Amino acid sequence: MPSFGEQRAIVERWPRFPSRERVDEHRICLSFDDGPDPEGTPAVLDALEAIGARATFFMVGEQAEAHAGLAREVAERGHEIGLHGLRHVRPEELADPECDLRHGLAVLEQATGVVPAAFRPPYGHFTAPLYEAAAELGLEPVLWSAWGLDWEPIPAERIADLVLTDLQPGAIVVLHDSARYAPRASVQPTAEALAQIAAGAARLGVELQPL
Ligand SMILES: [Zn+2]
Repeated sequence: MPSFGEQRAIVERWPRFPSRERVDEHRICLSFDDGPDPEGTPAVLDALEAIGARATFFMVGEQAEAHAGLAREVAERGHEIGLHGLRHVRPEELADPECDLRHGLAVLEQATGVVPAAFRPPYGHFTAPLYEAAAELGLEPVLWSAWGLDWEPIPAERIADLVLTDLQPGAIVVLHDSARYAPRASVQPTAEALAQIAAGAARLGVELQPL
């Protein structure tokens, strides 16, 4: 365990990690992390269809491998596929980030037929080696500008309120279509919140589209 001083020095040595947190002002991008998951993704897909929105799904390789049919369905229903890691681990735990990302890309391509162009690390947390590996593979780093705190067990109204607080034209919203890595949460409230979020986007006069 490094001392506080040593830790501070490491942090200061790291470059800043620029990442995309917005889209253009004519759109809002809804993004869903941690799937695909038979217990969450279908409800989100149906809710998106009901509001006529297309979104970006940052999939975890191990999830796409286990639920390849569902991964493909997400792509076939017109949504964009991004990479959220091969496994859902903290970047400090990756012995070889580039190998991990390559493997994740291959798994997602095999499952969905699409090669992702965007990467969001688990927990939105980059390390220098992970950042460099993503750049090396031509993956665009993407974070967000609004969230619904839906990894906590909170009701749909609260999720929608939180998203709407930070919802501006050009926003990237992070939500989740799986509770696998946040077992206290559930995807149902997220799916239920989408109608209210769509109404908020309509009031701003923008469409809900992928990256
Ligand atoms: Zn995640």
